[in-house]
Amino acid sequence: MVEGLIQGVGFRPFVYRLAKKHHLSGNVANRTDGVVLNLYGDEKKIDVFTKEIELLAPPAVEIKNIHKTFIDDFFSDDFYILPSKSIDDHITEISPDIAVCDDCLNDMKNQQHRLSYPFINCTNCGPRFSIIKALPYDRSKTTMDKFEMCPICNSEYYDVDDRRFHAQPVACNNCGPEYKVDNHSGFNLILDKLTETIDNGGVVAVKGLGGYNLICDAANERAVIELREIKGRDAKPFAVMFPDLETVQTYCYLSKAEKEILESWRKPIVLLKEKKQLARQINSGLPSIGAILPYLPFHYLLFEKLKSKAIVYTSANISGEPIIWNDKKASLILENNVATFVNHNRDIENPIDDSVVKVVNDKNQIIRRARGYVPNPIAIRKNVEGVFAAGAELKNCFCIGKGKNAILSQHAGDLKNLETYNFYKSTVTNFFDLYRFKIKVVACDLHPDYLSTQFSEDLVKGNLNGNRVPIIKVQHHHAHIVSCMAESQIEDKVIGVSFDGTGHGSDGNIWGGEFLVCDSRSFERFAHFEYVKMPGGDLAAEEPWRMALSYLSKYSIVARNKLDCFAKIDSTKLELVGKMIESSINSSLTSSAGRLFDAVACLLNLCSENSFDAEGPMRLESIIDESEKRHYPFTFNEGIISFEETINRILGDLNKVSIPRISAKFHNTMVNVICEVINKMRKETGINKVVLSGGVFQNKYLLENTIYRLKENKFETYTNHLVPPNDGGIALGQLLIASNYM
Ligand code: ZN
Ligand code: ZN
Ligand code: FE
Repeated sequence: MVEGLIQGVGFRPFVYRLAKKHHLSGNVANRTDGVVLNLYGDEKKIDVFTKEIELLAPPAVEIKNIHKTFIDDFFSDDFYILPSKSIDDHITEISPDIAVCDDCLNDMKNQQHRLSYPFINCTNCGPRFSIIKALPYDRSKTTMDKFEMCPICNSEYYDVDDRRFHAQPVACNNCGPEYKVDNHSGFNLILDKLTETIDNGGVVAVKGLGGYNLICDAANERAVIELREIKGRDAKPFAVMFPDLETVQTYCYLSKAEKEILESWRKPIVLLKEKKQLARQINSGLPSIGAILPYLPFHYLLFEKLKSKAIVYTSANISGEPIIWNDKKASLILENNVATFVNHNRDIENPIDDSVVKVVNDKNQIIRRARGYVPNPIAIRKNVEGVFAAGAELKNCFCIGKGKNAILSQHAGDLKNLETYNFYKSTVTNFFDLYRFKIKVVACDLHPDYLSTQFSEDLVKGNLNGNRVPIIKVQHHHAHIVSCMAESQIEDKVIGVSFDGTGHGSDGNIWGGEFLVCDSRSFERFAHFEYVKMPGGDLAAEEPWRMALSYLSKYSIVARNKLDCFAKIDSTKLELVGKMIESSINSSLTSSAGRLFDAVACLLNLCSENSFDAEGPMRLESIIDESEKRHYPFTFNEGIISFEETINRILGDLNKVSIPRISAKFHNTMVNVICEVINKMRKETGINKVVLSGGVFQNKYLLENTIYRLKENKFETYTNHLVPPNDGGIALGQLLIASNYM
């Protein structure tokens, strides 16, 4: 029996060919818990065969375990691939989309019917999730159904010795999908047009795997500005696609772990440290680059002709909306705004963005979980069949339970955006149909106003055929911590540290600097950051100066007029917000760590107004002087952590100590806060396991230094690796918590 991510990724044909090679007979079959292999033949050959399974397996296969047992009376005359028996077996078979493999790139140069064919794929690579309409995974149930295989493709498809045996999206120049520009096909002509436009500083829109993408020369400032205009002035840093690893290393610093994930078959965007600057507009001056390598055959063909060695590669969407995948909408919104608009005729069934990953402590941290990851299931220790977890509101993903698997949806985005909310609703329907999902329990956030909460309430009220389904409302930060417990399969009580931007607390306030003692059922709030006012509610998260003002007012600091950070703010606005704080109008209370980082970023005059999510904290982290080991004082009394002294000392340091040093001292203070509080928690509870989760832990300096210190203090530390520590991972925690109520 072989366990791991091995279904729907060409494992059985691979095993078949390997068995033939070693003259072994027997059979191979899928089961929900793995792949079962029965072998008959020479024992030594079986040993070599087993070793080669691990050594030679297709790229997307991840083997976790191989269990061997001897059967006395087994005999087989040949080797067979046994058909799957039940629909449940098919469920784990939906593979994520896989980047084009080396063999296919080679075929693209040599196989007559696939010369320069931009949709080339095989059993080991190509589109999967993005094209599947229903199960079992079979060509007729994908968006490849409208393309009839030519005789050559057909013979490859049925030839068990061929690399394309049962490759559902198999296609070639004679029979497969094709790119189009102005309704003309002819791929060479299209490539010429594209490369000409990009090299001359124009912006192009191209239909990709999971949606449309916007592309331009990443070294051309004006082109990047134009691209931003098209996207509705979205200020988020753009991803940059480089033709190869060598070019990545010209522009970015690359560690071994970063190189590994960048080159993996998942081909995510990897956040790297910038070495050489491209157009400044790409990352608004932040010293990092979201690098990505080619993953479609089309990308390789494009770079072969392109002069430009780095291109902006971003999903075509209007700021805040989901990726555009629908052809009609694309031509309506994009066609007239870009210099060249390229389409293709393979439909996108499940729209999906590129994933975003970064490496922290030599391990992958997922920031956005989408292409290459979804819908890989996450193994749970218990049966979670029938649990639907609706997720949070920002960076939304939802999650469904199938057997002992949790399956998370692709990243949707901010549900407050109508288009995104529609995308969310249709994806939920898709998942329910695709996985033949029957709801037993619904989990959602405690926040009454989250659209995902309202959606859940409607779901429970609605037509569930009269069946009463419980709805479990889960506290946001409890869900963050449990998302990590689910990944690591921890069942006992832990110390949970959730540093986050926002989240509805059990007392109605907005939490986010939380120390919890919890398991997957319940939690106790052991300590938290001191409450401060959030003048203007959600606006305070977009405008860090409001939080800076709030902290100053809280600690009765009257330095406002001397601080540069308020100089740019309209004085009437300043007065108004000052009064708001004084009289507690529209000023909810928050213990959020994210808001504290915002305030400090503003006080250091790094960011008074966010032009994208978490800009302030990102700027604060990006300038840290790592040689600075000192920190600021804080107080921790009766479960409340107060930053009065911290803020006062930061203001005292302004103009005396460099900003990078102040930032380091502030970050070091945060590490100290965590250590001091959890040491006390360990003393009182005897718990030694610490879970760190929440959006603020995307801060690499904070997380790496915290882990280092926790190790020194002999804590067992756990962080998210399979789902994001931000709200994109919340649904997994919700799911496990709600599974207790089935
Ligand atoms: Zn391939
Ligand atoms: Zn063909
Ligand atoms: Fe959160």
